[in-house]
Amino acid sequence: MEAARVHAPVVRLADQQRSPLIAIKSVAKTYISASGSAVPALDNVALDIAPDEFVCIVGPSGCGKSTLLRLIAGLDRVSGGTITLASEPITGPSANVGVVFQSANLLPWMTVRDNVRLPLRVGGYRAKNEARIDALLTMVGLGSFGDKFPYELSGGMQQRVAICRALTRDPKILLMDEPFGALDALTRERMNVELQRIWQASGKTVVLITHSISEAVFLADRVVVMSARPGRILRDLKVGLDRPRAFNDVVGHPEYVKLTRTIRGLLDETEAKEDLLS
Ligand code: ADP
Repeated sequence: MEAARVHAPVVRLADQQRSPLIAIKSVAKTYISASGSAVPALDNVALDIAPDEFVCIVGPSGCGKSTLLRLIAGLDRVSGGTITLASEPITGPSANVGVVFQSANLLPWMTVRDNVRLPLRVGGYRAKNEARIDALLTMVGLGSFGDKFPYELSGGMQQRVAICRALTRDPKILLMDEPFGALDALTRERMNVELQRIWQASGKTVVLITHSISEAVFLADRVVVMSARPGRILRDLKVGLDRPRAFNDVVGHPEYVKLTRTIRGLLDETEAKEDLLS
């Protein structure tokens, strides 16, 4: 099978010249624990994400990945620094940001269609755009499942419904926190291919957290590697593999091998430092 080709340099240059949709500058986040002590979760995090980009974040457990995602989603406040979306400061959750978590969190008494429609009702929108819901379900390959209930779907299908629900209000940005962490390895690979297709069809900016190095390299335009807590950005690595990507073409490609080794080395190093300090 033909190996995935490396992006032409001109494409990467054009990417770099776009102004950021998400701009994270010198961000710190400190929690106060139940006992009253300060828990520094993030320290001096800086990251720019361009429109349409697919960025994956990897890092040791507890390094602040979910915290960073919650801050971008407007679900929590920074302790220092700034985050802007399209140059506007974040003041709370926004219709421009959809979030997908590890668990699909579908309402079991509602059909697939009603679950996908839910953000329109909660957001005070009139549910006039049934055609959009149909189009979303078709996009994720569930066009004929609108009248099913969640228990009638596999884990992968439920997660696709969760992706649809996050896209219902047509957000510019899709934030995903370990969305396929609960799926078996084979389903997870299929979902990676599916997500790549959905991302290419929908033209969203995606930020995805994962513990899987291969998932990160397969999906991302850039893989951001974070240090152990307090989370900082250790490296921001561009993935020079052409799209659409297929696992059989990508795994074994020199670019994939080089990147996965580099990321594993960085994670081993930061985790070893954490062990020494703890
Ligand atoms: P990750 O997603 O990388 O596993 P988190 O962002 O969930 O990490 O957490 C980062 C650190 O902040 C962890 O040490 C965690 O225990 C701590 N933390 C997260 N949320 C809170 C909270 N609400 N109160 C106190 N500490 C928290």
